[in-house]
Amino acid sequence: MIECTGFNKVSLVDWPGRVSAVVFLRGCNFRCPWCQNPDLVEPSRSAPLVTADGVLQYLRQRRAMLDGLVVTGGEPTLSPGLTAFLALVKEIGLPVKLDTNGSRPEVVRELLDRRLVDAVAVDYKAPLRLYGSLVSCDNPENVAATIAAVLRQKRGYVRTTVVPGLHTPELLTEMVKAFPGLNAGNHRLQGFRPGTCLNPEYNRLPQVTPHEIARLSKELQGAYL
Ligand code: SF4
Repeated sequence: MIECTGFNKVSLVDWPGRVSAVVFLRGCNFRCPWCQNPDLVEPSRSAPLVTADGVLQYLRQRRAMLDGLVVTGGEPTLSPGLTAFLALVKEIGLPVKLDTNGSRPEVVRELLDRRLVDAVAVDYKAPLRLYGSLVSCDNPENVAATIAAVLRQKRGYVRTTVVPGLHTPELLTEMVKAFPGLNAGNHRLQGFRPGTCLNPEYNRLPQVTPHEIARLSKELQGAYL
């Protein structure tokens, strides 16, 4: 069964439009320097805090007040017990959203095909050509496959964290044009926040405000096909 490093009993922001519980799974195969959850990336820096049974018990008790469960990380698809855990969540009848970095398309496809997840939020961090140098990912084609699967099945969305100095309008345009299925409805930009970045150097960067995100989103409208 999964090891839950964190559990947020009620969230209004992790699944837009829904009241959800959020479970955090530790371990990640990427090293995004702007990552806000360094304790979840390095398993040695965290410990399981709540058991899967404890999470399931809470979900059964509060089923009526929840619209869904968000499974996030770290990278949740690395957790060996994920499929079994989600099957038990589905017995409770709760919709599930999976947050993923997209590195394991076979896991995401299986979860979608078996209807164990209802929505996927897949990260699209930068042009695929930069994944190796930027986030230590050697197989960006896997990310491309996950993004394609989510877009094809229309079950979820793609999200990009806009980092100052990196995500210029030109770079974002290059990213958008690489996936013709991306549009203003399924591609969400979110602003970088300094504070607890995996690479402390990134904590010197300024926050990207909602106003800047709105401006960039507007600028990108012409890039979506
Ligand atoms: S941002 Fe996500 S993919 Fe990147 S290191 Fe952090 S948990 Fe892993």
